[in-house]
Amino acid sequence: MPEVKADVLIVGASLAGGAAAKRLVDAGFKTIMIERKELPRHKICSGILSPRGWRFLHENFGEPPPEAFHEPKHVRGVNFLFRNGLQLPMEFTAGPTPHIYRKFADLHVVRKSRAEIHERTEFTEILPDDAGVTVKARRRGEPVTYRAKYVIAADGPRSSVVAKLYPGFRDSIWWFVVGQKYYKGEIGLDPAWFHFMIHPELGYYNWHHPEAGCQIVGYTCEHGESWPDGHARVVEYLRENHGLRIREEVSKEGCLENFGMSLTNHFVFGKQRVLVTGQAAGFLNMMAEGMSCALHSGATAGEAIVEAVARNRDPNALYDELIQDERRRTVDQWNPLRILLSTPHEADLKGAIRKFPLVDRAYMVKEMLAYCGQYRGYQWMAPILAAAVRRLFLGRY
Ligand SMILES: Cc1cc2nc3c(=O)[nH]c(=O)nc-3n(C[C@H](O)[C@H](O)[C@H](O)COP(=O)(O)OP(=O)(O)OC[C@H]3O[C@@H](n4cnc5c(N)ncnc54)[C@H](O)[C@@H]3O)c2cc1C
Repeated sequence: MPEVKADVLIVGASLAGGAAAKRLVDAGFKTIMIERKELPRHKICSGILSPRGWRFLHENFGEPPPEAFHEPKHVRGVNFLFRNGLQLPMEFTAGPTPHIYRKFADLHVVRKSRAEIHERTEFTEILPDDAGVTVKARRRGEPVTYRAKYVIAADGPRSSVVAKLYPGFRDSIWWFVVGQKYYKGEIGLDPAWFHFMIHPELGYYNWHHPEAGCQIVGYTCEHGESWPDGHARVVEYLRENHGLRIREEVSKEGCLENFGMSLTNHFVFGKQRVLVTGQAAGFLNMMAEGMSCALHSGATAGEAIVEAVARNRDPNALYDELIQDERRRTVDQWNPLRILLSTPHEADLKGAIRKFPLVDRAYMVKEMLAYCGQYRGYQWMAPILAAAVRRLFLGRY
């Protein structure tokens, strides 16, 4: 069986992997990125890259080609839809942000990193030892072994690397089914916004936005619940309240998501020369905005290895230190004290609410609390409060 050698092997050719690779290649490390799919590959995603994520992508990888953007090309912000008909638009404070087409935006990032990319190569096993890490994979169906000094796991929410490194991990967190359908049709909602339904009886996370001439309706449920039934309820709600008219269902897609890790401050950063980054580590901002933290945490993982070699330090210990800044930004978004006393998001929730009369403000807050009440069964409140107290007294999580 062939053995391929590298300084760093990255699992997952996506935004986190591409950002890590860029830092490593720039510093002269032989970097190989393995990706189970053929590139350019599809990735389920609304594609709304926050202003911070866009700045990072543009500064580090340059302007993406035209095919890396969707139509409409820009999004003004997030608009909450309430069941009494009120709408709460929250503009991104830095202005409209691009709506990217992951298939080509990710390709742009991973190519610009200049790492060697092995497509159709699926990670299967990881064996760290004192001198390095052996990774087994299947490349175009054939077994292949990699030997690297370090490994970065950037293989997304359902990370196989994390599952192998921490065998009980998958069973220790909640999993959610996130899916969306594309329809030809019309809707009475402004296409310049990402619309999010604050409705305590409709489900955990439901959204609408237009893309490529289609109306997208998304719905989330706990793994094991009936996704089609819940999705049909959201479609019905949009029909009755926002004039959704469907002519044809074009396509549907879904995946499993690890919501909960960032809001409960439960991250996995790796061990034994394996650094876990992006959503594999648990990074996900509010509104399932995961691209900006994937880019930043990926770059930090690359930087940790560059610095560890330069300073003869343990890469995992250094990564644990360097990643605290991104962790603070992410967990701040879920910290009730930060939400009340500062502005941890890239849009100003409190400022947007203040524009409404008192009676509407009271209604919106009541509905948002009722909406959060859906998550009662997950016992997330205790870790959220523990993290908030830790941040208050120690300044970190
Ligand atoms: C429906 C939906 C909508 C979303 N909308 C937004 C949005 O509008 N804005 C936003 O910022 N975020 C959004 N997100 C979140 C965002 O997509 C993720 O947080 C982000 O893509 C995480 O990036 P990543 O680089 O960590 O991993 P991923 O993008 O998940 O990439 C992981 C890569 O690893 C590869 N891989 C996986 N397993 C293996 C293996 N065994 N071997 C080799 N390769 C492997 C995958 O094929 C993939 O290329 C959305 C997510 C969903 C599900």
